[in-house]
Amino acid sequence: MVLLRCRFLTINLTPLLPSHFQSHNFHTTRLFRKSNFISIPQISASSLPTNNTTKRSISDSARFASSVLFIPPGVEVEELTEEMVLPGSNIVIGPFAGHSQIKEVEFVKSSARARDCPKDDRPEIAILGRSNVGKSSLINCLVRKKEVALTSKKPGKTQLINHFLVNKSWFIVDLPGYGFAKVSDAAKTDWSAFTKGYFLNRDTLVCVLLLIDASVPPQKIDLDCANWLGRNNVPMTFVFTKCDKMKAAKGKRPDENIKAFQQIIRDNFKIHPPWIMTSSVSGLGRDELLLHMSQLRNYWDQ
Ligand code: GDP
Repeated sequence: MVLLRCRFLTINLTPLLPSHFQSHNFHTTRLFRKSNFISIPQISASSLPTNNTTKRSISDSARFASSVLFIPPGVEVEELTEEMVLPGSNIVIGPFAGHSQIKEVEFVKSSARARDCPKDDRPEIAILGRSNVGKSSLINCLVRKKEVALTSKKPGKTQLINHFLVNKSWFIVDLPGYGFAKVSDAAKTDWSAFTKGYFLNRDTLVCVLLLIDASVPPQKIDLDCANWLGRNNVPMTFVFTKCDKMKAAKGKRPDENIKAFQQIIRDNFKIHPPWIMTSSVSGLGRDELLLHMSQLRNYWDQ
């Protein structure tokens, strides 16, 4: 039995084992961008040697762990211990994690089109999510400054790609929110055309943080977005927001909503993307998310 313990969530991964091990194919998953694509081959259990039962089961566990955990470059699956997994996440921290705190942040530019974004070689991490998911709050929590996120919140208003330079070395990119309840179909199309252009053409994009509101059940629009990013090989991390709302009066608790979301993702993705639980109110997951971002960036920067 493989148990992944998080601060609020214990996920029993065992029931997943059969379906993950059924395939006879090799699969590749891009973990994150680094100039050229990084792929990690996933080998099915059926292709492993069978003459040594003990070795086989260790190896199977390791390979299974690699299909549910985010294992960064420089970490061997056989060396994994529970301490290497960030609390409230499936993210393993490896040797590329480094200086992660934000000392300085400076607004650089708002761009109406992908091709107007700053011409700059420094890596960037984009933040995306449904309107009201808690994107501005999370950005402010990460940088520990009020009013840094400038995203226009009014439906129908021009939405912009906002670049913020952090510690003079990398960018946080605040992308327009999607899924305004009252937005017209034309505005929805605009959003997808211009934001999709950004994802597909931005060479310095290391990873997208896709924010998912953990206080509500899985939303089709978020799943559609995740599937689109996955299909287009855009590296993503699911950042569950509002995880402090543990005692919701109505509906399910965040941990139940997160489990339901994960289950759907597992049906669509061969390898589970990295995910982490956060709260901008309590600061849950803030330092852990920054550490994860540092390992993505540092590897990309190599
Ligand atoms: P945005 O539209 O995605 O930028 O969302 P905001 O950051 O403006 O947040 C939308 C609403 O959710 C606001 O009322 C916030 O106070 C609330 N909110 C954001 N983050 C959290 C969180 O971590 N916990 C709780 N309980 N509420 C949050």
